[in-house]
Parts: sequence; C-alpha cells; structure tokens
Amino acid sequence: MANNKVKTRFAPSPTGEFHIGGARTALFAYLFAKKNSGEFQIRIDDTDRARLVGGSELRMLDLVRWLGMDWSGEPMYQSSRILLYKKYADELIAKGFAYPCFCSEKRLEDLRKTQELSHQPTGYDRCCRKLPLDETLARVAKGESHVIRLKMPESGKVSFNDMIRGEIEFDYSLIDDQVLIKADGFPTYHLASIVDDEEKGITHVIRGDEWLSSVPKHLYLYQCFGWQPPVFAHLPVIIGKDKKKLSKREGSVSVDAFKEQGYLPEAIINFVALLGWNPGTEQEFFSLVELEKEFDVSKVNKAPAFFDIEKLNHFNAHYIHQIEEGELLEKIKSFTQIDFSKFDNLFLQKIIRVVKERMVLLADFDSLSHCFFYTVDPDKDMIRFVKSDWRDTITGLQKAIESLEMLDSEKWESVEELNLFLSQIVTINGLKNGDVFWPVRVALSGEMASPSPAELLWVFGPQESLGRLKIALVKITPDYK
Ligand code: GLU
Repeated sequence: MANNKVKTRFAPSPTGEFHIGGARTALFAYLFAKKNSGEFQIRIDDTDRARLVGGSELRMLDLVRWLGMDWSGEPMYQSSRILLYKKYADELIAKGFAYPCFCSEKRLEDLRKTQELSHQPTGYDRCCRKLPLDETLARVAKGESHVIRLKMPESGKVSFNDMIRGEIEFDYSLIDDQVLIKADGFPTYHLASIVDDEEKGITHVIRGDEWLSSVPKHLYLYQCFGWQPPVFAHLPVIIGKDKKKLSKREGSVSVDAFKEQGYLPEAIINFVALLGWNPGTEQEFFSLVELEKEFDVSKVNKAPAFFDIEKLNHFNAHYIHQIEEGELLEKIKSFTQIDFSKFDNLFLQKIIRVVKERMVLLADFDSLSHCFFYTVDPDKDMIRFVKSDWRDTITGLQKAIESLEMLDSEKWESVEELNLFLSQIVTINGLKNGDVFWPVRVALSGEMASPSPAELLWVFGPQESLGRLKIALVKITPDYK
C-alpha cells in the first residue's frame, strides 16, 4: 500500500432491504475513516446474480445519504469489472494457486449426500485439483463448463489480529477449495472483494462478524498475489428480544421502514452507533459530527449488541423535541393526513409546540393533535374528574367560563398566565384542581390525555375555547343540576 491514508468501504450486496445491521456496518466504516482523516468508499457487491434485487442498491444509497454519511467518488459496481476478476483468476492458475474444476452440479450434490450419509464433513473432494494443467487448459479452451477454484493449503495455520476480537487463528486444513469464478463467469465474493480492496487501496475492512470465517480464505489469496492484507474489524452480531440474530428478512428492522414510520436520521445514527460501541462515559446523545470525533473502534464490544426499540424511541423523541416548531411542521407534512394549507401557520406552530413533547415518531402528530382540527364530543361521564362530584364540576366549568370571558386578550397569549388563572379560579371559588382543570381539559380536547388545559386554551384562543366549554357545560347541566 503506497500511501498510508486510511480508506474504508461499505460493500452492500443489493439483495433487498437496507437492514439496521447494514447501517451499522456503513456507519462504523464511515466513522473510522472520518476519525482518521481518511476516505470512505462505497462498493456494490452485485456479482451474485441469483440474489440480485434490481434497483435495491439505489434505495440503499439514498438511505445512506439520508442518514448523513457521504462517500468519496462514485460507488463502484463489481458487475462492471468481470473481466478484471477473470484476469486475476487466470493469474492464479498460471502461478499454480488455482485450477479449473469441471465437476458437475450433480456430482457435487451426490458427493455431498454420500459424505452426509457416512457422517463425514461435507466439502469438495479436490478431484480436479489433480488434473494436469495442460489438460485442464485444453478443456477450458474447448469451452467446457467449469469453475475456477483456489488451491487452499492442505495444512498449516494462519492468524491475524482483528481490531475488535484480537488475535484469531484458523486451521487451513479445515477450509474447502473455494470457488473463485463461477460457471457463469461471475466471480464469487472472495475473489472480487479482495481484488477490489487491493485496487482501491482499502486499508481497513470493517464488516459484520458473519464474514469472520472468510478471513483465512482472503489472507491466503493476499498471500498468493503477494499483496499486503488490510486490517480487519468484525462487528458483533445484533440480537433481538428473543436473543436471536436480527433477521435481514424482517422488514421491520429495515432503515426504510424506520424512515417511513417517522424516525429521524439523527436518532437512527445515535442508536446504531451504540449497537456495540460504548463511549466509556455517561454521554448518551451523539450527533454524527460528535461521533466522527469520538468514535473509537477499539471500544467496540465483542459481545452481541442488543437491539432495543425502546432505546430507539427514546432517541427519536429526544431529537424531535430539539426541533424548532417551523422546521418540525415541515417534517410532519409527509406524515400527516391533515391538509395544513387550510390552517393558519401560527395556529399550526402552536399545536406543534404543545404536542411535540409527547411525540415519539413524526407519524404521531395526527393522533396527538386530533382535537385541534376536529370538533369533539366528550362522553358526559368523562367531563367529571373521578374524585369530584357533579355539583363542583358544573360550578368549576361555570366559573371558568365566566372568568375566561373577562380575561384580557394578552393573557391569552401566555400558557403560564392561563395556568395561573385557572389556579386562581380554583382557589377563589373554594374548589379543587380536579373541578376546574379536568373539565376544561375534557371539554376542549374530548380526551383524558391531552396537552395541559392551559396549553389547550392558548392554542384555541378565546372564541373556540369558550365555545367548547359552553357546549360541555350545556351537556352536563340538565342531568346533574
Ligand atoms: N457484500 C458483502 C456484504 O453483503 C460485503 C462483505 C465485506 O464487507 O467484505 O456484507
């Protein structure tokens, strides 16, 4: 590696959803590059044509960008480099490190069945490895269907130092002769990945621990080519509530699904950063920029990382609360059924001010703000606080109406003043809080859980507030007076 600039890459296979585990791999590779003033690249591993989901890489790239990670240069597509991989495979054959294998699918299948029946480890029996090179090349030249396999050493050990897991040793004799080029001419992941990492000068390979068992194959390939391997870091598995590995097939843990439910990129980044990484301090909230400075791959845990949706919700609520009303209004627009153009902007911003503390997702806005957009028809019994009687409830509502009718208009502009005013109504009339605050809340919102009564008054203003309070009073008076 000519220069020592740190270069990492995220190399997704475009086989469907962008899973939260993929987002973590991307983030850690991105952060490691940023922390070390390096470069973060993207490579699309699209050589497995059977598993390809057309266009899924574009959605992934959009989501990586949406999460705030930028990358250097254009994403590189492996499918556009097929001839190059073939050239490297031929080089390995010429050097005696690889060989064409003509075994049919049927033979391999029969072999596997026989091995299973006799309780032997399954794997290729290296039948074609023994064929003379001139014979194999002649068969290839005639167009006989074949794959190219790596001649793995039959004995010996290899070890490497993983940035997260430390020293790990593998026994070569346990590893099969890997296919490098498939019968369709496409390379397998092993060959394509190391060729690209070498050509792009990748210094650090950061990826999920399902790739750990590939390392000895890769190290051997590096040795065959005479290349210096990169440094590896294998991230811990992410487990769900059931203590099982989160499945890529679960749509619910795709970044796309989180985006659609109204999770913010800031929350996802913060949450994902802590899936395995621990800053070693009490700090809980991290912006991407902070992470770029603080992230330390050596502090990533080996132990499985626990995916806790409550934690993600906690982060999302936190970041929603930080957003200024006007900006939040914009963000909510793609989640709401309400036509904001029909309402005054100030009114909408006031609503946001009073509901945002209870929002966990952007999509929560509609259910939390329903009463502001629609008339309400509270159940009679709900208007009375459980510990109040009907007489005091009626008095409370009557006194609230009378007093609010007299209230100066500038006092209506302050939630604190309105709250104080409601408290005064309670004390002056010898009532309890529940005789005033409760019926005012229910009359205005139609609900038992809502913004506070003073906040409701503040958003609605005098006319709408008094209208709703009077309707509620009329509703309960004839029955309970
Ligand atoms: N394409 C592989 C994946 O889908 C990349 C593995 C690696 O980073 O080397 O995860």
